[in-house]
Amino acid sequence: KFSNPHRLGFGSSNPTGKIPLGLKRKGLRIVVTGGAGFVGSHLVDRLIARGDSVMVVDNFFTGRKENVMHHFGNPNFELIRHDVVEPLLLEVDQIYHLACPASPVHYKFNPVKTIKTNVVGTLNMLGLAKRVGARFLLTSTSEVYGDPLQHPQKETYWGNVNPIGVRSCYDEGKRTAETLTMDYHRGAGVEVRIARIFNTYGPRMCIDDGRVVSNFVAQALRKEPLTVYGDGKQTRSFQYVSDLVEGLMRLMEGEHVGPFNLGNPGEFTMLELAEVVQETIDPNAKIEFRPNTEDDPHKRKPDISRAKELLGWEPKVSLRNGLPLMVSDFRQRIFGDHKEGSS
Ligand code: NAD
Ligand code: UDP
Ligand code: UDP
Repeated sequence: KFSNPHRLGFGSSNPTGKIPLGLKRKGLRIVVTGGAGFVGSHLVDRLIARGDSVMVVDNFFTGRKENVMHHFGNPNFELIRHDVVEPLLLEVDQIYHLACPASPVHYKFNPVKTIKTNVVGTLNMLGLAKRVGARFLLTSTSEVYGDPLQHPQKETYWGNVNPIGVRSCYDEGKRTAETLTMDYHRGAGVEVRIARIFNTYGPRMCIDDGRVVSNFVAQALRKEPLTVYGDGKQTRSFQYVSDLVEGLMRLMEGEHVGPFNLGNPGEFTMLELAEVVQETIDPNAKIEFRPNTEDDPHKRKPDISRAKELLGWEPKVSLRNGLPLMVSDFRQRIFGDHKEGSS
């Protein structure tokens, strides 16, 4: 019932997810929704390098052609301008479903659209996965834990989320997306994977997306004060993008549904982050305090024991090693001394 006669690879209908011995791995056909965005474009690079055929589906709300244009002309790469809120017919083996604005500034810009993207968009991609027998991976978020009362957060924690707040379009949207994913799994036998991603940074982030790492780095480079919201004692755990992409691919290829926390357990207050940015870019950068945003989670740090044990995954790049890689990308894009989107 769920087999796909057009499939080229072995990704989904093979229950072990492993390639039969003696057979060379053929390229898979993979859809990456949101593939022109920050995380998606790095994932696309890895999949193309592995020899897969990749279709990027993106409406360019926060994504940019510059992030993927180095693949233009490669017959294994296709870029489709499409909004996942509308149905889509494709024949594929795997779906990495990333489409959704990720920074608070962008997801609050049109909250109803954010909900539609998370709910209707995820429903459509699950409908597609069901029709063609593809394996489906959802990029959920640490925000499903809300302002957590458990620290660090384990996957078994159900969260502390305000259902009627300004962040709810994203938090509750992703929680519904997880529910839909599990219901398609239980009800229709779709092979699914769920990743709960913690704060991630790296080259190709939107420069003005309002997230703390992109703000501090852009501010320090532009000789503007670093804007610390609230008292700056709230914490986050920052993961470099290559670690996340490795985790997503291991999760897709592995045998476990999840959910899995994918994040770097190194925990920093915003004031400590500001210090690392000062050390990396400009020791004289000033700090300016601003009022915090509504419903801001006080602390966040992943417990990654499950991913360590079942996926053999853990992050390798520390904040102090990853930040300089992002800084050189931002420097090139802000001061224009190199072509955009390179990393
Ligand atoms: P991003 O904004 O750079 O990428 C999102 C991409 O989705 C963009 O290219 C955007 O144009 C596209 N998109 C948005 N709405 C769409 C729609 N309706 N139809 C088609 N395309 C659409 O963000 P990112 O940081 O790369 O995040 C990717 C995924 O990872 C998101 O689902 C996000 O929720 C999740 N995530 C990211 C982080 C992080 O720290 N970066 C943390 C937790 C979860
Ligand atoms: N869908 C899609 N592409 C497909 C198959 C389905 O976009 O290849 C959409 C479809 O339009 C529907 C959603 O996915 O809105 C859920 O599909 P499903 O078949 O599970 O439900 P139904 O169509 O029966 O409501
Ligand atoms: N933040 C800050 N200065 C900024 C932007 C954000 O101090 O210029 C704080 C924000 O209040 C939050 C933390 O940094 O406590 C992380 O915010 P971000 O928007 O990056 O991610 P999220 O809140 O989604 O984890």
